[in-house]
Amino acid sequence: MRIERVTSAAYRVPTDSPEGDGTLAWDATGLVVSTVTAADVTGMGFSYASPAAAAVIKERLAGCVAHREPMDVPALHEAMARAVRNDGRPGIAASAISALDIALWDLKARLLGLPLVSLLGRARADVPVYGSGGFTTYDDRQTARQLEHWTGELGIPRAKIKIGESWGRATARDMARVRLARRVIGDDAELFVDANGAYTAKQAVRLARMMVGDAGVSWFEEPVSSDDHAGLRQVRNMVDCDVAAGEYGYHPSYFAALVADDAVDCAQVDVTRVGGITAWLAVAHLAAAHNLNVSGHCAPNLHAHVAGSVANLSHVEYFWDHERIEGRYFDGALVPAGGALAPGGAPGHGLSFKAADAEELRVA
Ligand SMILES: [Mg+2]
Repeated sequence: MRIERVTSAAYRVPTDSPEGDGTLAWDATGLVVSTVTAADVTGMGFSYASPAAAAVIKERLAGCVAHREPMDVPALHEAMARAVRNDGRPGIAASAISALDIALWDLKARLLGLPLVSLLGRARADVPVYGSGGFTTYDDRQTARQLEHWTGELGIPRAKIKIGESWGRATARDMARVRLARRVIGDDAELFVDANGAYTAKQAVRLARMMVGDAGVSWFEEPVSSDDHAGLRQVRNMVDCDVAAGEYGYHPSYFAALVADDAVDCAQVDVTRVGGITAWLAVAHLAAAHNLNVSGHCAPNLHAHVAGSVANLSHVEYFWDHERIEGRYFDGALVPAGGALAPGGAPGHGLSFKAADAEELRVA
C-alpha cells in the first residue's frame, strides 16, 4: 500500500466579535487543512495556523510522504521533521507537520476501521474539558453570557478567562472580571485564568494571591512570558494555584526544558503545533516520567482522541474560536455535555471537513 495523494488548503475564519487577551488582539483564525489518501481511503488533519503552513505542506512535506507506506507514521514523521531543518522547525513548519501527522494517524485508523483513540489505545472513557474564552475585549454582559453557555447550558464545571489586559496595566479591571466570572459560574465550578505572559513575576504573585483569596482561582496560565522559565518557577513557588504553560511548544524538546526548569505544574501541549499526535504523545510521556500532567491546548476535537490515550491528563481546552469553527465546518464534532468529550465509534477521529461550506473563506 502506498500514499497516493497529499493535499493542503488554508482558510481565514472571522471571529464573531473582536477578541483579545493580555498581549494580542485578533479578528480571525487561520485554519490549515491537509489530507492524505491511500487505497481510496482519506485521512484528514488540520492546524490553527498561518496560510504559510499550507505552502510548507505542499512544497516541503508532501514529497516526504508521497508513495510511502501509510502505516509507518513514525518514519513519515521523522522524514518530515528532517526535511524542514533549514526552514526552522518551530512555528509554521511545525504547524504544517502537525496537520499532516494528524492526517496520517487518521488515515491509518480509517484503513484499520478503528476509532483513533482505539488505535492509540484508550486510557480513559472520556476527556474532561474546560470552557475557554472570556476575552479582555468583552464587556461584562458578553463575558457572563459566554460563561453561562459553558457552565449552565453545557454543564462544564470548569471555565477560563483572559486577564493581563494591556500588558498588565489594567489590573483593577482584571480583578473585577475575575470576581464577575466567579459570581457567574457559581461556587462549585473551577475558575482558571490566562495572562498570556502579560505580567512581571512579582506582579503575577500579588495578583494570584488576590485571585485565589477572592475568587478561588485554581489555574494561572502564563503569568509571565512562557520563555521566562525562572519567572514561571518563581511564581509557581509562591502561589497556591497551579501554574501552566506550553502552548508555544513546537517540538518535544521545548517541554524537556520547561520540565527540567521546574517551570510548570501542568504542561499544555497543542497537537496542532507540537508536531501532531506523534509528538504530543512524546511530550505526554515525558511529563509522565516527571509525575506531571498534561493539558490539551485548543483544538478540542483533535485532542479528544490523543488525550483519551494517556493517563496523566488534566483536561482539554474547549476554546471559543475552535468550538465555533469545529462545530460549523466539521461533521462529527463532539459536544462536551456534562464537561467531557467522549470519542465515538466512527473510524479515525470521526471528523470530516465541510470544504464546500468553507470555500468562501479559502485563502490558499
Ligand atoms: Mg493560553
